[in-house]
Amino acid sequence: MSNLIKGKEQEWETVIGLEIHAQVKSNSKLFSSSSSTFGSKPNSQVSLVDAAMPGMLPVINKYCIEQAIKTGIGLNAKINNYSVFDRKNYFYADLPQGYQISQYKHPIVGEGKVTIDFKDGSSKDIRIVRLHLEQDAGKSIHDQNPTKTYVDLNRSGVALMEIVSEPDIRSADEAGLYISKIRSILMYLDTCDGNMQEGSLRADVNISVRKLDDKYGTRCEIKNLNSIKFIKQAINYEVKRQIEVLEEGGVIEQNTLLFNTSTGKTRPMRSKEEAHDYRYFPDPDLLPLEIDQEDIDKLKKTITELPDDRKKRYVDDYNLSNYDASVLTADKFVSDYFDNVIKFDKTLKKSSKIVVNWITSELFSLLNENNIEINNSPITPQYLGKLVKLLKEDIISGKIAKDVLVEMFNTKKDPEKIIEQKGLKQVTDTSEIENIVNEVLQENQKMVDQYLSGKDKLLGFFVGQTMKKSKGKANPKILNEILQSKLSKKN
Ligand code: ADP
Ligand code: MG
Repeated sequence: MSNLIKGKEQEWETVIGLEIHAQVKSNSKLFSSSSSTFGSKPNSQVSLVDAAMPGMLPVINKYCIEQAIKTGIGLNAKINNYSVFDRKNYFYADLPQGYQISQYKHPIVGEGKVTIDFKDGSSKDIRIVRLHLEQDAGKSIHDQNPTKTYVDLNRSGVALMEIVSEPDIRSADEAGLYISKIRSILMYLDTCDGNMQEGSLRADVNISVRKLDDKYGTRCEIKNLNSIKFIKQAINYEVKRQIEVLEEGGVIEQNTLLFNTSTGKTRPMRSKEEAHDYRYFPDPDLLPLEIDQEDIDKLKKTITELPDDRKKRYVDDYNLSNYDASVLTADKFVSDYFDNVIKFDKTLKKSSKIVVNWITSELFSLLNENNIEINNSPITPQYLGKLVKLLKEDIISGKIAKDVLVEMFNTKKDPEKIIEQKGLKQVTDTSEIENIVNEVLQENQKMVDQYLSGKDKLLGFFVGQTMKKSKGKANPKILNEILQSKLSKKN
């Protein structure tokens, strides 16, 4: 699959690097004990430190540091035993300190990599440059009063991890796969809740284009995108814009852009000349962070199976394709669900592909229609396991199984009970099916004649009629055998 984009005279390659901001999952903030809960009453979670009252001192939250280290390990990255918190100075109404505490020259996590998987089974590594810790700012609210701006400092001081990639990404799709993979890793690690709608995970996207094998072009940076759909839209728009400018003989200026989600277009926020000089310097209120290797190793031991390990287990143990396994493991809750379905019965291991299909097609469509997350599914993994087992043992047909699934979804009942109460067991008794076949053939004498004179396609009609008469319960294999033998005897 080529990522090259056709221009007027030549092909162009897209070059993308992402800066992802992930909110650390922690009850309290990076340098204060205020709560970091989302959606609380404005300014109800603001300590004197968060409001930057004179003389207040930051106290580092050990748990947030551990979360960042765990994340670094999950990103296959180097954990730095020595890191420094700096002050990044700028003036803004929602930044009462007048600076943001962030890590600059010495981040807590260094180089790493994550793997993304494509539909065709291939995969690619995206290199990580660094992960550093920083404080979030407050929020200015402009739309509640026509003449005033309100400030909510609840978010002020909440811990963020900024994860910076190398410019290794080559298309909007790759960018989507990359951020999904990062999100998935963080959610497995439980270091970020991954909620993009609430802004727990958002990205600045750097984009440039070049002729293949040229050096990198000048990039533009689109700020603060909080959905994978918008990230892809923004990239596609921006790439087209840059190619047009270049093909008309223009140059790309290194701008910071905003993406308008209703028009689907980018527009400049500031140019390089207006770029801030942040005058970084080490925060004198905080000592450099020194972490013992022993503590890092201890944390390493607390990390359970990550998406790539799980994927490998699914490929090795269940014979799933690399792609199926990556779709399944992308969401930890989906993957946990799958594991629990398989656990229901020893025999299901051999039917893993069928289990995958029932989860990703039938169950997903019921959950989506009703806007329910899989971890709140009314159908427990045990009951889904039972249903697949009943299907595999030919107790019910595939068609009936789908009806039973809907009933299970609506009533939370055991599939076995539903089948019993509604008399849905598959009919495998040959004489019973033979009787129905006879009736169908008698009632449709004309069709039988047509069939015998060569209209082979009518077989499907007879199958359908017999199935209907049996109320969907006739075993399809036996039904087909009987029909064919009866019709051939008539010849
Ligand atoms: P800054 O510190 O000015 O933001 P960095 O060099 O740290 O700049 O890069 C920020 C992000 O931009 C990184 O994710 C990097 O991969 C990406 N990037 C750098 N150069 C390019 C380029 N020419 N095209 C696209 N992305 C780029
Ligand atoms: Mg940047």
